Amino acid sequence: MPNMSLKKNEMPSQSSDVRNKNYEEVALGYTEALALDEAARCLNCKNMPCVSGCPVNIKIPHFIKKITEGDYEGAYQIIAESSSLPAVCGRVCPQESQCEAKCVRGIKGEPVGIGRLERFAADWHNEHSDEAPVRPAPNGHRAAVIGSGPSGLTCAGDLAKLGYDVTVFEALHTPGGVLVYGIPEFRLPKAIVKKEIDTLRALGVKIETNTVVGKAVTIDELFEDEGFEAVYVGTGAGLPRFMGIPGENLCGVYSANEFLTRINLMKAYRDGADTPIAHAKNVAVVGGGNVAMDAARCAKRLGAENVYIVYRRGEEELPARAEEVEHAKEEGIIFRLLSNPVEILPDENGNAARMTCVRMGLGEPDDSGRRRPVVIEGSEFTIDADCVIMAIGTSPNPLIRSTTEGLECAKWGGIITDENGATSRPGVYAGGDAVTGAATVILAMGAGKTAAAAIDRYIRDGAKAE
Ligand SMILES: Cc1cc2nc3c(=O)[nH]c(=O)nc-3n(C[C@H](O)[C@H](O)[C@H](O)COP(=O)(O)OP(=O)(O)OC[C@H]3O[C@@H](n4cnc5c(N)ncnc54)[C@H](O)[C@@H]3O)c2cc1C
Repeated sequence: MPNMSLKKNEMPSQSSDVRNKNYEEVALGYTEALALDEAARCLNCKNMPCVSGCPVNIKIPHFIKKITEGDYEGAYQIIAESSSLPAVCGRVCPQESQCEAKCVRGIKGEPVGIGRLERFAADWHNEHSDEAPVRPAPNGHRAAVIGSGPSGLTCAGDLAKLGYDVTVFEALHTPGGVLVYGIPEFRLPKAIVKKEIDTLRALGVKIETNTVVGKAVTIDELFEDEGFEAVYVGTGAGLPRFMGIPGENLCGVYSANEFLTRINLMKAYRDGADTPIAHAKNVAVVGGGNVAMDAARCAKRLGAENVYIVYRRGEEELPARAEEVEHAKEEGIIFRLLSNPVEILPDENGNAARMTCVRMGLGEPDDSGRRRPVVIEGSEFTIDADCVIMAIGTSPNPLIRSTTEGLECAKWGGIITDENGATSRPGVYAGGDAVTGAATVILAMGAGKTAAAAIDRYIRDGAKAE
C-alpha cells in the first residue's frame, strides 16, 4: 500500500543557530526509516512523468521501488546508469523545478522527495560499498576533456565507460569545477565530490590539474601534437559580471566567485590559512540566485553581524532554489528585496563602508517572463556595508575562443553548438555553462552525456571511413 501522506518527510538538519557558525553539512540526510516511508509515497506511475523532468533521464520510479524493497545498492545502480554524480545531484539539483515538478503526488500535496531519496541511495552506496567499478576494455581511441566541472566529468565518465582513453585538463589545482570552488562545504561536502571523482579515476579517467588550455596547450596542439581524436570543452562560465556602479573598485568589494573560491577551495576561514578574507561586520550581497545565497551564508559563518541580500525584484522572482532561500532566512540573512545598489561609498581609508540603493517597483513582464524592475524616483536609502559581494551573474572566460581557430561563439561569449554538442570546429564538442551561460549542475551533466554519445559516433564513423 502506498503511503498517502500529503507531505514529504522532512529532511533532518542542523539547527539554524548552530549551523550558521560552522561549515558542516546543513542537511543530514534521511535515515533508513525515513527513506522507506518516503519511498512508499511513490505511486510507481506507468508513464513515469518524473523521468521526463530529469535532464539525464534517471529511471526514478525504478530506483525508488528498489528502496521500498530494501535493496539500496540496487537503487544506487539504477541511478548510476544515468548519472555519474548521484550524491552530488541528490544534494544540489533544483528538483522542485525538474523531476519533482512532474510528480503526480504534487497535484494534491507535496511531490515525492525524489532528490532526498537519490541522496539516500548514493550515500548508502558510498558508506557500504568500496567495490571499484569494472574498467571497460580499451577501444584504442583517445579523447580530451577541458574542464573538470560536472559537464566535463560526466562526458569523461561516459567516454571511459565506452573504453576511451580519456584525459581531463583542469586549470585549477583541484578537480570538480563549481562543485569544489563555488558550492560551499555546508551544502556539498568536498569529500562527496572527491569520492565521485575517485570513481571516475577508477574507470580509467586521467585528470591533469594546473593545466590552463589556451595557455599551457591549445586545442590545436591537443589534436596535432598529442593525438586526441576529439575534444570536449566544459570550461563553464567563471568570468564574473559587475554592475559598473561607482565604488566597485574599493577594498572590500568582491565578486561572489572570488569570495567563494577563497572560502571553499582555499579554506580562508581556517585560522592561519594562507589566503586572506574580509571579516566584515556588515555584508551586502547583491543578487538573488544560489550564488548569492551561498555567499551570504558563508559571510554569516565568517562572523558578520548583519548580512543582507540586496535584490532588485521580489520574493517570487528570487532565482535561488526555494530550500536555499529558506535556509538563508533561518540562518538570519536579511532580505532587502526590490532594492538596487547605485553606489558604494568609502570610509576615510578608502575601504567600502556603505552602499546607496534605490527602491524598485515591478512593471510589465520582460523577455524572461518575470516582471521588469523599475526605479522608484527619490527612494534612495543607505545600508552599512564594509563588504560588498557581487553575485549578479557570470559569463564564459574568453581564453578558449580567443585561442581556437574556427570556434563559433555567440556575442555574449557562449560557444555555439548543435543539439548534440558539436561546435563549428570538427571534432570539438562543448556543453554546460560554457554553452548555456550559468545554469545548473544537472543541465551541465546532461550536455556532457549527450556530447559523449556524439563523440563516440564521430570517432567510430571516422575510424570506419579509414
Ligand atoms: C556558488 C554557486 C552555487 C551554485 N549552486 C547550484 C545548485 O545548488 N544547484 C545547481 O544545480 N547548480 C548550482 N550552481 C550552478 C552549477 O554549479 C553550474 O551550472 C555547473 O557547475 C556548470 O558545470 P560546468 O561543468 O559547465 O562548469 P564548471 O562547474 O564551472 O566547471 C568548469 C571547469 O573548467 C575549468 N576551466 C575553465 N577554463 C579552463 C581552461 N581554459 N583550461 C582548463 N580548465 C578550465 C574551471 O577551472 C572549472 O573547474 C551553482 C553555481 C555557483 C557558482
